[in-house]
Amino acid sequence: MYNEISLNALLNREGSEGNNSMNVSPRSSDSVSLGLNTYHDIIKAPAVDPLTGLCSKEQFFLLAKDFDRKHPLEGVDAIVLNYNKFHLINELYGRKFGDKVLCAIADCVSETAKEHGGIACRYDADKFYMYIKHQKNYDFLIHQVSDKLAHMMKTPDIRVRIGIYPDLFKDATIEQRFDRAMQACNSISKFSHATSYEIYDSKMHEKEMFEARLLDSIGSAFAENQFSLAFQPKYNVHGNHPKLTSAEVLIRWKHPEFGLVKPDFFIPLFEENGLIRQLDRYVWREAAAQIRRWKDELGYSIPVSVNVSRVDIFDPDIIDYLKQLITDYGIETNDLHLEITETAYTDNVEQIVSVVKELQREGFMVEMDDFGKGYSSINMLTNLPLDALKLDIGFIKDITENNKGKNLLGCILEIAKLLNLTVIAEGVENSKQYFLLKNAGCDEIQGFYFSKPLASTEFRNLLVAEA
Ligand code: C2E
Ligand code: CA
Ligand code: CA
Repeated sequence: MYNEISLNALLNREGSEGNNSMNVSPRSSDSVSLGLNTYHDIIKAPAVDPLTGLCSKEQFFLLAKDFDRKHPLEGVDAIVLNYNKFHLINELYGRKFGDKVLCAIADCVSETAKEHGGIACRYDADKFYMYIKHQKNYDFLIHQVSDKLAHMMKTPDIRVRIGIYPDLFKDATIEQRFDRAMQACNSISKFSHATSYEIYDSKMHEKEMFEARLLDSIGSAFAENQFSLAFQPKYNVHGNHPKLTSAEVLIRWKHPEFGLVKPDFFIPLFEENGLIRQLDRYVWREAAAQIRRWKDELGYSIPVSVNVSRVDIFDPDIIDYLKQLITDYGIETNDLHLEITETAYTDNVEQIVSVVKELQREGFMVEMDDFGKGYSSINMLTNLPLDALKLDIGFIKDITENNKGKNLLGCILEIAKLLNLTVIAEGVENSKQYFLLKNAGCDEIQGFYFSKPLASTEFRNLLVAEA
């Protein structure tokens, strides 16, 4: 779809082949000349972002590609600007004001791009892209896209994370260059307190290559059984002697080339591109099969908990899939506990509440994982369908006798009791932590103090030895 304004704008701009300025956004009056194919593509794409009047992202990419074609030797930088916590502006001051701020940002960004012989667009929501002539120093950006804006809008707390992909590897496509600028941007903490920029460097490039090779090898990883399950014991600590009652299942990937790859590294990668659904389903199925085997061998059920990624929550078949597993292996729903990370709850409350309510109705036990890492409020806890709270490892590390952490633990345990929730502490490494948590009233404990994650046969031997 295109509109008259955009077509006119483009027609007016058709011009000199030799002009190597890219000031072609609908706000700009400079000229650009387009090849026939590009021209066709451009008039088909929406031309303008209706809110800000900047050129649309489709136009932006087409124009940037066209510039590259015409000026192959010109150094150009891809820049991503991500405005932190923009939703707070909408929530605090209303959407109208939020839109006003976005337009002011658009002005800033477009002016800055223009000054440096380039173009800008709003990529989505509060993310802006710039494609400008290569710069040796980027300090000017901080002032131009943040300080200046804060002054104009008198809006405190607008911080920008800026990722830059300079003209390093000429072989990358324009989309790849912006992906890399985005990686540089994401390498800056979301919680950073000042506007800052990061330049894509060879370390990030190596990481990207490593990730690409890992993703490439996922097919053979399934085919060659490179994934396996580890079981970390969970102990009930109510009585005089801790009692081994269940386990958490943790995935392990033994890669033929890279050796043991840590889940902390590949899980976020798989979450990004949707592969996590396949991986988690594999883990859940293997876990259900193992529960069945132990039931047959030992004559009783050992419940295990599996991790459920935030991405799985959006899978419309998740409930049917889990129910089918229970039927396929002839086990009970309360044999399979589901660990869902706290941040998944705060990211999409409505979706998760409806899925988890249904899961609980079916008889699955639901544990909130990593509690204390995110920002769930007490009010939220009272409204969530939950069976257990699993305290985050970072929280446990911070607790020592007589400090604030210990008082906070007391409060959490009281609330959990009121809400009828089991409290599990994970990452418990030493006897000091163990006794502190047990005496404070924790129900279950998991961590190196008792055991590292074990292979299934080792776990079974432990079960038999402790029975
Ligand atoms: P998590 O669910 O919080 O799992 C606990 C992590 O803490 C595990 O790391 C475990 O080995 C480690 N740990 C246990 N006890 C201790 C301790 O006493 N001290 C210390 N320092 N660490 C301890 P692991 O296995 O590397 O897993 C890391 C994360 O990867 C998990 O964190 C979970 O978020 C994710 N993950 C692992 N397996 C799966 C899976 O099958 N599916 C999904 N979606 N995520 C998984
Ligand atoms: Ca977990
Ligand atoms: Ca955890």
